[in-house]
Amino acid sequence: MIETKKFDKNMITLLEMCSTCMKMCKDQCPTAWATKSERITPYTRSLMIILNEKGIKEYDQAAIEAEYKCTACWACEEACLPKVGLPNMIEIARSDIIAKNPDLKPMNEIANRVETLHNPLNEPAEERFNRLKNIIPEKKKAEYVYFIGCMACYRHPEIATSIIKLLKQTEVDFTAMIGDEWCCGSPIIRNGFTNLAQKLAQHNIEQFEKFKCKKIITGCSACYSTIKKDYAELGLTLNQEIQHFTEFFDELRIKNKISPNKNLDKIISYHDPCHLGRRMGVYDPPRNLLKAIGGKKFIELQFNREKARCCGAGGGVKYNYSDIAKSIGIRRLEEAQLLNVDMLVSACPLCKNHFMAIQNDKSKTEIKDITELIAYVYLD
Ligand code: SF4
Ligand code: SF4
Repeated sequence: MIETKKFDKNMITLLEMCSTCMKMCKDQCPTAWATKSERITPYTRSLMIILNEKGIKEYDQAAIEAEYKCTACWACEEACLPKVGLPNMIEIARSDIIAKNPDLKPMNEIANRVETLHNPLNEPAEERFNRLKNIIPEKKKAEYVYFIGCMACYRHPEIATSIIKLLKQTEVDFTAMIGDEWCCGSPIIRNGFTNLAQKLAQHNIEQFEKFKCKKIITGCSACYSTIKKDYAELGLTLNQEIQHFTEFFDELRIKNKISPNKNLDKIISYHDPCHLGRRMGVYDPPRNLLKAIGGKKFIELQFNREKARCCGAGGGVKYNYSDIAKSIGIRRLEEAQLLNVDMLVSACPLCKNHFMAIQNDKSKTEIKDITELIAYVYLD
């Protein structure tokens, strides 16, 4: 049976409020900006949902596009006085759309890949740990499990390598789930495939139990928000504490258990990943770590913290509507270029991957993940 997430009475009231509101959120929505379309705004999305829920107008092609052109950036929520939680409603709408159209293209491609290969990148499942297994301490149980995530395993092993080396230096008892880690489910949940998301989440939770770990660490903002928030929203119980790597490492820094041993002669700025910042409220640990690096200076982008602009890659938009993802990402990169920063740093492999893919060859701004910088200044 195909399960969908459901709207409750309170949600319907909020959606009614949203579709008739003063629209404080429009200017914050990156996809409204990129498409310049009145159909692609937060409130038109909510209007289409409420019309479908009340049986007035089913989701047609235009409505499906509107719902799927959302990057799940949570910027509308930041501007929204009643805090209706529209990004959650859009996810529920997508799960309803998928229940009625299980072969919806191109979204079904991601679902098929994750179902068969356990990653959305179309890479062989058995090669997931190829570039990392030699440096991971192989253990049957450990206090910490490092959940690496698809993007760091296959596309950015330099991020995973940095984290593994740093964890070794901190001497914590850790391992990674070689051969047992599957996609966290983020791209599947965002695209509305609730059944498959349940299966992935259930599998990963069983592995955490198998490794008898007490804590999970991840360097990926999408994995972090998915495991911490979405697994519970899917009705599953996670018995472990989970931290983003920046939270874990900043705690050690505050307790003076680690300290930088090199400077970095670069002007650095930080891009808040939407799923670490707005969705999970983690703003300070990455900044604390960057500010603790001696050298030139840390400067904020014009739009930062709660107001940070999205990179454009989230919510399946990079896969489904790559042109929109590109224009949103370029606007964000231009903020860094205007400030002449040497490095734009994020705390999510997906942001790094997207910025690197769309950056102009002539740009002088280096794109890095925060874990690479931390490895550079903290490793012996
Ligand atoms: S998301 Fe919030 S601010 Fe935007 S239209 Fe709906 S209620 Fe209004
Ligand atoms: S989550 Fe982001 S892209 Fe989606 S409607 Fe809200 S502001 Fe727009």
